[in-house]
Amino acid sequence: MRIGSTLLAFDFDGTLAPICDDPTAVRLDRGAAELIAETTRLRGVAVAIVSGRDADDLVTRVHAPGAYLIASHGLEIRAPGGTLVRDAPPLLVHLGSTLGREIDEAGLRLESKKLALALHWRGMVFEDVAPIVEKFRRWAKEQGLDVIDGRCVLEARRRGAGKEEALRWLARAVGASRVVYAGDDITDFGPLRFAAERGRALFLASPERTPPEGVTVVGSFRELFRLVREEVMV
Ligand SMILES: [Mg+2]
Repeated sequence: MRIGSTLLAFDFDGTLAPICDDPTAVRLDRGAAELIAETTRLRGVAVAIVSGRDADDLVTRVHAPGAYLIASHGLEIRAPGGTLVRDAPPLLVHLGSTLGREIDEAGLRLESKKLALALHWRGMVFEDVAPIVEKFRRWAKEQGLDVIDGRCVLEARRRGAGKEEALRWLARAVGASRVVYAGDDITDFGPLRFAAERGRALFLASPERTPPEGVTVVGSFRELFRLVREEVMV
């Protein structure tokens, strides 16, 4: 088996770390930390963590020097050891005072990321905030931004890349003949399809999402990590 012949890639929030109401409070699950440490030491396996978070944010939460970090939905990529592979200039957009005030007054949280603005409503009733979420979606499209639906979050992101494109790129770059991917959300559906054709696609079940076709549905981190070990520890 040559280096990189299996690409093992994980989404972060909801897949390696439990979802929290406050995204800044999210921490890597302890079992996930052990799994990442073990798998990054394996010969013939390249490990990647794929997230919508900024690279600088992700790196502080995962502490995985042996893994590739695909951040900002693929707009930022760092190789093991932190070498910059892909980067993009920060997003500079203005929301407008009316929409900004409406978001504030409704109690929604607007997160300013390096390459995106993310509107969060976790802990709230979606029907109550739907008109403002839709206004934000229209505004983002008018700005020429990509709009990404997540679990209780809508993100307006600088155009380009995407988790699937970045995963395909990395699979080529490391010469992976097999791809294993684990994810929990709509933005993982592309990478999951790609992995289902080339290895295995593992989907973390949640009441918020219907699993796509062709995936193995798992109900807990523990079960996920057991299946991942079966895939790579041969
Ligand atoms: Mg996720």
